Amino acid sequence: MIFDKISILLTDKCNACCDMCCLSCSPQNTLHLDTQTIKNVIDEAAGFPEIKQILFTGGEALLYYDQVLECSAYARDRGLQISVYTNGFWGTSEQEAARVASDLKNSGVGMVHFSVDNYHQEWIPAENVLRAVHAVNEAGMKSEISIMETRETNNVHWVKELFKNELDKSKSGWWPLLPAGRAKGKINRDKLLNIFQAKKSLCYFDKMLLMHCNGNYYMCCSVYFNEIPRLKIGTISQNSLAELSDYVISDDWFFIMLNIGFEWFLNKAEEFGFVFPELVPCPCECCRLIFCNPDLMHKLENDVRLKADELRQQT
Ligand code: SF4
Ligand code: SF4
Repeated sequence: MIFDKISILLTDKCNACCDMCCLSCSPQNTLHLDTQTIKNVIDEAAGFPEIKQILFTGGEALLYYDQVLECSAYARDRGLQISVYTNGFWGTSEQEAARVASDLKNSGVGMVHFSVDNYHQEWIPAENVLRAVHAVNEAGMKSEISIMETRETNNVHWVKELFKNELDKSKSGWWPLLPAGRAKGKINRDKLLNIFQAKKSLCYFDKMLLMHCNGNYYMCCSVYFNEIPRLKIGTISQNSLAELSDYVISDDWFFIMLNIGFEWFLNKAEEFGFVFPELVPCPCECCRLIFCNPDLMHKLENDVRLKADELRQQT
């Protein structure tokens, strides 16, 4: 089993409508996974010792509050660790934040991830998120704050200042914004922070399978999962977790990407006359440049098979 965690994208509905949302979530969206489907996958996951963790995300997963609590307890009772991603809208008062944090903790949730930046705070008051993070820390769960940046934003500075009293307990990290979903039409590409050398980039795959409320499975949780058709590896109704793992392991393109990164692909593509930027905002951009170019993929097909065979013999 190549996967060690499953991210369950419970819904594409959200109480926010952020300009940078890679899923184009909004209050009007309606996709939503039912409880029995989630429990079936949790049962399946619990049969693999390699799979340790279930993550609930969205959209805003906590719009389906009772369902998240029920499915978290179900996964906890089968030995799995639980994380929840949220925009923190529920920290409307200290009492309410403490109530939600206590419910999450009692349902087995061990970690809560928050998204905080100018894009989210157009919709969600920062004070709500601050109260929610504080309540999670007080309840004894782990918390993490994720921040998105472009050339135009200065989110890391104000977020770290606002959360300064929580940062001894909360992890925080920032990432360059990528043009996926709604961000493609709202954020100019010249505002992106190109900070990675394309040829030195390694795939970000962290063994997390994405189960989407649209009925599909994707091999990773990059914000590009929906932009790169090849990352769709199966459907919830038709494929077992074992089949998905076997598919990823046996695919020559994935095998090269996961083992040696993108330099080999980009050098080979240049031999065929393709040109790439030297710097990209994220390694996943290399993935997009390769997998969303049918002409390039056609020309590389034979070399990819030979390279994958060579690498498999070495491992
Ligand atoms: S809060 Fe998150 S899921 Fe909701 S619209 Fe914003 S980025 Fe999308
Ligand atoms: S490089 Fe590709 S496969 Fe790897 S995490 Fe990014 S989008 Fe997913």
